[in-house]
Amino acid sequence: MSEVVDHLAELTGFRDRDVMDVTLVSALRDLLEPVSVAIFRCVGEAGQERWLTRARLNAEDAVATADPLWADPARLPLAQDHPQRLDCMHSRTVVQMESGANFISLFPIATDREVVGVLEVESTERMKSTAQRMVTSVLRIYHNFQGLLDYSERDTLTGLLNRKTFEESFLKAVSELPARAILSETDDGRRHEGPSPRYFLGVVDIDHFKSVNDRFGHLIGDEVLLLLSRLMRSSFRFHDLLYRFGGEEFVVLMRCEDEVDAVQAFERLRYNTEHYAFPQVGRITVSIGFTQVRIGDSPAGAFERADKAVYHAKDSGRNQVHSHAELVSAGKMSEQAQLSAMELF
Ligand code: GH3
Ligand code: MG
Ligand code: MG
Repeated sequence: MSEVVDHLAELTGFRDRDVMDVTLVSALRDLLEPVSVAIFRCVGEAGQERWLTRARLNAEDAVATADPLWADPARLPLAQDHPQRLDCMHSRTVVQMESGANFISLFPIATDREVVGVLEVESTERMKSTAQRMVTSVLRIYHNFQGLLDYSERDTLTGLLNRKTFEESFLKAVSELPARAILSETDDGRRHEGPSPRYFLGVVDIDHFKSVNDRFGHLIGDEVLLLLSRLMRSSFRFHDLLYRFGGEEFVVLMRCEDEVDAVQAFERLRYNTEHYAFPQVGRITVSIGFTQVRIGDSPAGAFERADKAVYHAKDSGRNQVHSHAELVSAGKMSEQAQLSAMELF
């Protein structure tokens, strides 16, 4: 019993989800001594979901393994290739099955909003009901703790990340920019072998949102914000970071190979929004500005560039996507003013 309590103390001692997942599989390996224990998250668009390994420990492993957060979705196993995991998620119950000479037990992992994945324990014997209850209890504590983290990191209306968490993830993204991205910023990126990942920051602002509130009331306005956040989730990849910055302003921090991919994703959101029938309200549109994140960028500096591109979209008739770099090279915006503003931060 005290062993369980020790592990729980460790599990709830972190504020980092990656570390928490590793701690959870380590704790369960110590307690159950299984063949393997892993947390799989179901990610991606409806109909094309895949399994992302959040943490995995085999009996002989010294350290846990995991898929990188930026894993290429096409390389992850398809959700439908593991139908029992899907059964576990959909039924929200423990699923047991045989796998060769071994046994597999699957436990659903849920947030307050939805079931997001499964915990999979493979063992040489069928898991006893006392062990199952113990795992379920540990998962309840894990769930509650994740809920507390969500509460401090997420916007309560939309479930998107809140502004408070932006700076930290932005700086983490900048620190991950590979050295060769410095070259591709100034030189021709195509000279380098293979694509180097880049980050783009987009600011999304609803057009004439005040009039939605004025005509239909605040509650309907809030519903539009919630529906737009869902359109955002379906328009970007699972690993792109989506924020509600406040009011009707959203931010996207995305990683992709080049500006063409970034434009496509922002255009997809603009198009999906324009063609979505919002209950009662009908049609709304968004204006989007974006910029590539540079080495040494400050969160405020990059945000300001994207925000200026949003203003340009508003001035040019709204319902448009604009790249800050393109506006500068077209002579419609000055980089110099931008640089001096950046120095303030
Ligand atoms: P523009 O196209 O220039 O962006 O016009 P706009 O009306 O969207 O912009 P403005 O900044 O003038 O107004 C934003 C409005 O968003 C003001 C406020 O009524 C509304 N708003 C801000 N936060 C919330 C919220 O949490 N819920 C709701 N329902 N409305 C909000
Ligand atoms: Mg607006
Ligand atoms: Mg606004």
